[in-house]
Parts: sequence; C-alpha cells; structure tokens
Amino acid sequence: MSRAAAEEILSSVGLKKTPGRLALVHLLLKAEGPLTHQEIAQKMKGFALNPVSIYRSLDAFVHAGIVHRVDTGERVGRFALCVCGNHEEGHGHCHPHFTCKSCGKTECLEDQVMPDLAVTRPGYTVHEVELYLWGICASCSVK
Ligand SMILES: [Zn+2]
Ligand SMILES: [Zn+2]
Repeated sequence: MSRAAAEEILSSVGLKKTPGRLALVHLLLKAEGPLTHQEIAQKMKGFALNPVSIYRSLDAFVHAGIVHRVDTGERVGRFALCVCGNHEEGHGHCHPHFTCKSCGKTECLEDQVMPDLAVTRPGYTVHEVELYLWGICASCSVK
C-alpha cells in the first residue's frame, strides 16, 4: 500500500491532506487489524501529531466514513480503515469482527458477509448493524 493510496482515501471524502493525516491513513492501511488509540499514538511517534491531534483526526475519519470504530467491549475502542467504500456516516459495519479469547487479538473479518437482518416489526428502522464474534483464532488453535 503506497502513499498514493492514502492520498486517494483522503481526497475521496474531501479531507485535507496534511502530512500527519497522510501518515495516519498510511499506518491504518498497513495495519493487520484494528488498532487502539494507544497503539496508533505509539506508532505515530516522530510525526508531527500529538495524541490529541491523532484522536481528532481519527474522529474526523470516522465521521467521514473512511475509518470504523471497533468496540468489542474492552475499555478501549479500536480503529480500522473502512473497506466497503460506503462513505456515509452511520452505515454501520460492513463486516463482522472477531476477538480471540486466548490472545485478545481483534480482527476485521472482511471476507465474511453480514447477515441480512430484516426487522419486520412495524415502526422500527435500523440505522446501524454491528456483529462481533468471540472465539479462538487460527494461531491460538494450533498451540
Ligand atoms: Zn488468538
Ligand atoms: Zn472492521
């Protein structure tokens, strides 16, 4: 994943391409899974972005729909790039998330399709759908 990809992502939602934001998107592009704010701040050391700016940028990314917040019930939220291309706020998650009970790793299951939960109760409108799975990941299974 190149720097050009990071620029394209920011342009697609009309966000200003500051060096810090580009570095942040680049980091999320390279990430293997959703990262916590703390992990991001650690990896962003050396860039002109302090933890507060990182938080604001992530917030802007979430609002723009290029990043989704993964909340698995831990005290910390995690952030990952959106892969569905649906840049609308509040569209919900386009894929389930998996957290390993053994190593604690959280992953985006981009290859899994979200089930279609059509709510048939009259008067109910669904705005967001999120699906979290807990279990044992592949690397913990072989141990
Ligand atoms: Zn595991
Ligand atoms: Zn995800």
